[in-house]
Amino acid sequence: MTTPPSGPTPPTPGNVLVIGACGQLGLELTAALRQRYAPESVVAADVRPPQNPAALAGGPFELLDVLDQPRLEALVRQYRPVQIYHLAALLSATAEKDPGFAWKLNMDGLLNVLNLAVQYQVPQVYWPSSIAVFGPDTPREHTPQTTIMNPNTVYGISKLAGEQWCEWYHRHYGLDVRSLRYPGLIGYKSLPGGGTTDYAVDIYHQAVAAVDFECFLRPDTRLPMMYMPDALKATLDLMHAPAECIRVRTSYNLAAMSFSPEEIAASIQQEMPDFHVTYKPDGRQAIADSWPASIDDAAARQDWSWQPEYDLARMTHDMLAHLREPVAA
Ligand code: NAD
Repeated sequence: MTTPPSGPTPPTPGNVLVIGACGQLGLELTAALRQRYAPESVVAADVRPPQNPAALAGGPFELLDVLDQPRLEALVRQYRPVQIYHLAALLSATAEKDPGFAWKLNMDGLLNVLNLAVQYQVPQVYWPSSIAVFGPDTPREHTPQTTIMNPNTVYGISKLAGEQWCEWYHRHYGLDVRSLRYPGLIGYKSLPGGGTTDYAVDIYHQAVAAVDFECFLRPDTRLPMMYMPDALKATLDLMHAPAECIRVRTSYNLAAMSFSPEEIAASIQQEMPDFHVTYKPDGRQAIADSWPASIDDAAARQDWSWQPEYDLARMTHDMLAHLREPVAA
């Protein structure tokens, strides 16, 4: 095991390109990168403009369809990024409805980024994978880093193939591409984009609006989850770890907490006893049933000292506090 040096993160000496910057993760990651580096050096790009322009107002924004290779190349030539964070994808529930396009976006988008990164010698690329790479044959509890995968969703198949491509580009071209298998991400600043764990964000919004919540998963469906500040910390810690610490070039298992809809409801009811949840499972139940309930992230903890900060109780308290804040005019 190689221990990453502790202390402040060195500033990135150049531009950073975030593709998919208007999404649930992209909005928050762009903000976190702009806090850490010169804001004007962090270029936000997305196929659509942000719904709330103020959210990305701190630095440049570029319209980009990542499938448009010449446009992506023009941006890489213009900004000469030292890091590309490629987040654009169709998520699990949406991908099942449009499998052909999901495969095209999730694969061709990644290959466009990897090829241009090699061609223009971009020093680092980040690309997120997901717990969706695992399938019904995978051990469900403490799912190991290396195990049977066999995903049975289009999204999971595309993420597993993407992981293998990342490893291949690292092996063949020496490209420093790094990746995390995120669990379901929960944050108060942005809305989820069509995943199977979206309920765990929506439930807080409904609770604060004093509206009953209808959950699309069964009450006992335990899934791995993570609060957004931990996801941002993991992403930046991974990207700043010395290259020799990164032993996994497919994608790292990453964990913080696991809970079911009835457990998150109970944690909200600790603060809001009148909050009421009903259950009406839909097609997303089958996706959730094929995924792990908990994840073993020992490799991330060993290689680059990963350590989450939020459990369910702490996340619930923080989410409710932020969602109750009055919206600035
Ligand atoms: P999201 O759907 O909220 O955001 C994706 C963004 O990509 C959107 O703003 C969308 O407009 C943009 N986009 C779509 N097509 C594009 C294109 N052709 N060119 C450029 N931009 C395009 O997704 P998210 O939740 O922010 O997820 C970001 C990444 O993290 C994805 O790769 C996803 O698979 C991964 N991930 C997310 C979660 C989660 O719980 N949110 C969990 C595991 C992995």
